[in-house]
Amino acid sequence: GRSVHQIQSGQVIVDLNSVVKELVENSLDAHATSIEIRFKNNGLDSIEVQDNGSGIGPDDFESLALKHHTSKLSSYADLGKLNTFGFRGEALSSLCALSTFYVTTARECDKPKGTKLEFEISGKVKSKSVVAGQKGTTVTVENIFKNLPVRRKELERNIKREYQKVLNLLNAYACISTDVRFIVSNSPTKGKKNVVFSTQGNASTRENIANVFSAKALSSLLALDLKFDLNPSTLPSQSARTWSTQNDVVSREIQLVGHISRPVVGEGRQAPDRQMFFVNSRPCALPQLAKAINEAYRAYNFTQSPFIFANLIMDTNSYDVNVSPDKRTILLHDQTALLEALKTNLTELFEAHDQ
Ligand code: ADP
Ligand code: MG
Repeated sequence: GRSVHQIQSGQVIVDLNSVVKELVENSLDAHATSIEIRFKNNGLDSIEVQDNGSGIGPDDFESLALKHHTSKLSSYADLGKLNTFGFRGEALSSLCALSTFYVTTARECDKPKGTKLEFEISGKVKSKSVVAGQKGTTVTVENIFKNLPVRRKELERNIKREYQKVLNLLNAYACISTDVRFIVSNSPTKGKKNVVFSTQGNASTRENIANVFSAKALSSLLALDLKFDLNPSTLPSQSARTWSTQNDVVSREIQLVGHISRPVVGEGRQAPDRQMFFVNSRPCALPQLAKAINEAYRAYNFTQSPFIFANLIMDTNSYDVNVSPDKRTILLHDQTALLEALKTNLTELFEAHDQ
């Protein structure tokens, strides 16, 4: 039968998207400047994430895939911040229980030798072998959900949609990461690898968008660079009250940077119909912000949906993070005031570019 560990793991890693998100975030946490994501058979055969980050030292091998092992969380306060991720030491442990899982890693001081680690279902190291290795870590996940037959069948049935969801997430990471090179490829069970997209590292978000989508997309985009100072004295009384009782700050500055479609009426769509949202440069779900931006846009062009690449830059005290396995939903503390200010600013931007 299945162990409790296997069943619980199915709650952390719920789909293809959560596998990729956890692995990419681990690579970013390890300060990688290059991350390669290789799918085989849309991820059903394997998902491999290779980075050139810090690597893992021998002292951490034994505990790496044990439950609740993390090298990251230092305090409870960290939980609210977006620069710590995942399920606090549960990602690798869960992948161990749900797939054929192995890790190859080397630190700067280990190369050209690396170590390949294989694990038992429990997360204990099963075998260690010396392999050739560059600095960084490669995590391989084969046959995801192999021991949860219902979940596996469901994934197989919906694989096209699931794979597309993962690509959307990778698009977002690749576009926002101005200092990390992303390479994404997919290959059939037997056959040649097909590069889906790649970015260059050390590139602007515009250059990343051109590489991920198309160079043509750029011509139809306006730069977003809005600043709001949500000072209690300038807020409507209701939100000012909420704000001043919940927070001890006098002034709060929020910035919205990114790109949005130019609202050109009657012209064929050039920008891809994609909407990506970030808080402090991390992809996340912001349904309220999405709604506000779409409404402001539709006042000008109600025949199309805009391309949106919107990054909210704000203090970590200005929001709560509701971490669910498949997405990171952000709850803004002062949503009403922010969204009102945002709509006014967007309308002005669109008016200035109305043709
Ligand atoms: P968490 O990220 O919440 O700490 P994980 O299960 O995702 O938990 O990872 C466990 C630990 O393994 C991390 O804390 C980190 O020390 C190490 N680790 C995982 N992936 C990488 C990587 N790509 N590069 C370096 N270290 C890694
Ligand atoms: Mg992690």
